[in-house]
Amino acid sequence: MATDTKRKRRESAEQKRARAVELVERLDHAMPEAKIELDYRTPLELVVAVSLSAQTTDKRVNLVTPALFARFPTAADYAAATPLEVEGYIKTVGLFRNKAKNLVKLGQVLVERHGGEVPGGRAALSELPGVGNKTAGVVTIHLGVERAFPVDTHILRLSKRLGLSTTTDPDDVEADLRRVLPEALWFKAHQLLIWHGRRCCGALRPECHRCVLEGLCPKTGVKPPKKKP
Ligand code: SF4
Repeated sequence: MATDTKRKRRESAEQKRARAVELVERLDHAMPEAKIELDYRTPLELVVAVSLSAQTTDKRVNLVTPALFARFPTAADYAAATPLEVEGYIKTVGLFRNKAKNLVKLGQVLVERHGGEVPGGRAALSELPGVGNKTAGVVTIHLGVERAFPVDTHILRLSKRLGLSTTTDPDDVEADLRRVLPEALWFKAHQLLIWHGRRCCGALRPECHRCVLEGLCPKTGVKPPKKKP
């Protein structure tokens, strides 16, 4: 296996693209079941769930959304609510006060400008209250409207460790990933990198000893494990 330094020196753009495809193939082989872990049934539920998941685990979001979705099935229901009422349904979720305010505003904007429906394109989605570029990208790809490679905290971390991007700006990382992977793989790779980040390549302790990407990953920025005395 090439060392980190040797790989950086030797890898051409073409080799990097081939390695990126192999990384995705290996992950797909190991985790063919990888998919979004938020529960939703409609585009509105998807937007709400993804918005709630900022700085909160998907598991925690899934605990609150059944009651939230039952009480607020349409954009008009959020529009007519007070932030305080919405807070009552999401108070175990991080930043719940801001998120409750944004859900009410989201409902109002959807009713006033989009006939109560969730718009399809990423640009229109990213202008909605509480919906940034990443959330808009996640919604877009799951609705099958546009191809994109939205970058969350896991993808940001893994892109660096895997030597696929050197930048820390999510939009720039997305541009790098779009360059190294064929468009047809973006959706799958997005899911797989998140799953791998959650299950093996964690922020504090990447488990390289049991990683299916061992040998393909330069482990950029990963400190070697401390030797036992
Ligand atoms: S666990 Fe280690 S080998 Fe696997 S992707 Fe993360 S840094 Fe690379």
